[in-house]
Amino acid sequence: MIMNKKVYIYDTTLRDGAQGEGVSFSDSGKVRFAKMVDELGVDYIEGGYAGSNPRDQKFFKDIKKEKLSHAHITAFGSTRRTDLNAKDDPQLQGLLAADTEWVTIYGKSWLLHVTDVLKTTGKNNLQMIADTVGFLKSAGRNVFFDAEHFFDGYKADAEYAIKALGAALREGASGVVLCDTNGGCLPHEVFAITKAVRKAFPKTEVGIHVHNDGGLAVANSLEAVRAGARHVQGTMNGYGERTGNANLVSILPSLELKMGYACVGEKNLRRLREISLITDDLANQRVDARQPYVGSTAFSHKAGMHVNAVLKNTKTFEHISPEQVGNKRHVLISELSGASNVMMKAQELGIDVTGISKQDSRAILEELKMRENKGFSYESADGSFKIMLQKVLNKHKPFFELEGFRVIVEKRGREEPCISEATIKVKVGNETELTAGEGHGPVDALNAALRAALTRFYPEIEDITLTDYRVRILDPKLATRAMTRVVIESGDGKTQWGTVGVSENIIEASWQALLDSVEHKLFEIALEKQ
Ligand SMILES: [Zn+2]
Repeated sequence: MIMNKKVYIYDTTLRDGAQGEGVSFSDSGKVRFAKMVDELGVDYIEGGYAGSNPRDQKFFKDIKKEKLSHAHITAFGSTRRTDLNAKDDPQLQGLLAADTEWVTIYGKSWLLHVTDVLKTTGKNNLQMIADTVGFLKSAGRNVFFDAEHFFDGYKADAEYAIKALGAALREGASGVVLCDTNGGCLPHEVFAITKAVRKAFPKTEVGIHVHNDGGLAVANSLEAVRAGARHVQGTMNGYGERTGNANLVSILPSLELKMGYACVGEKNLRRLREISLITDDLANQRVDARQPYVGSTAFSHKAGMHVNAVLKNTKTFEHISPEQVGNKRHVLISELSGASNVMMKAQELGIDVTGISKQDSRAILEELKMRENKGFSYESADGSFKIMLQKVLNKHKPFFELEGFRVIVEKRGREEPCISEATIKVKVGNETELTAGEGHGPVDALNAALRAALTRFYPEIEDITLTDYRVRILDPKLATRAMTRVVIESGDGKTQWGTVGVSENIIEASWQALLDSVEHKLFEIALEKQ
């Protein structure tokens, strides 16, 4: 039965998504992913191409051992071969071997593909669809029919495309899924054609499966729903061949928060960012900071006027509130900053701003502008920003004093590796410590020496790892000599922080960023102990 406001969500990340370039799930990763999107509340999880792929078969076995709370696992395959009975087709036997309650088969609905790819007649193709659905139904399966290239097929020969759907439905398919396999359709076309299909089969569950070749997969999916589709297929983070599939991470909040449909529920949507990040991790993909709704920049505010308005009322510059999809608001510190930016950033960093006077905040802004003129940038250097703030407010207590360091880089022959060594002398209280360190490069060596010097006094810094190191040569036109900006990302397993250093000398710039990294960690520990 089709409930008016319920839209069924069909996740095909493990099948269609896994065909994307570089997307790869381990066997255990697939199971973890399936359990995670089950908890999220998707209705169907397509496990893979059951008929032909031994690795996908393993998933169907593995997932049987798990208890899912809600979702149905579906196995994916195609209509029978042109020249075989359904029961003799090894691919369909494989589909049954997956032993799932639900199966999805794809078949042709575009005559061009029937005659030029399958090299058979339109009539035989309809028979293939009917035979396959009939065979799977008689084996006790529920069947979805994915009509491949449906929209292109409909544009070429609407009557034939509708007949292909009819062939599946007459044999008992539970629903038909309209596919824009080449991904080039426009939203108004998807709307009109979906509407026509709904009219032809008013009692049928109509689904939508679109690719993103025109950058419109999300829009096309939403248009299909507006035209009456109540089953949406897509992938997490939009993984898929070429430019990807419809991105469920955008579709879910759009349907749920903006169009009033019921999919996974507003409560579960709050886990969306987390699930998107874990999916990237499981699939070995780089996180997209600019991803709509869940990206780390999705609710970042930069210009002073913006921030001022957001502080007064978040609706002024935000389309939803970030918490609804588990995201957070960020304030970017930049030279455009007004005093309100600085206060909001301080608040975001957990600094108590109640005691900061107007005069203080102006002083902070002055310091910030002066430093930005020198080439500092605090957009991804929260750690350094915090330390700078403490310094201006006279709350900064140095944890150690540097007496000096020396870095040597040596190459002893053409074939010899480059060796880096650093010595450092620091004073903690009344004690002086002199240590040496080696590393892959001069900064690595300096970091090793600094850690060796401080660990005796502050064992907690052992947890710090440097996760990223970025160097940028700043435009020499702005200064007499080129300046180097170094940004270091550090982590301790629980949190991440960024620090920045600027100098004409790359080692000096790196040192500043390293120093801030360690001081930030020590400062946080001191705060915890208070
Ligand atoms: Zn597809």
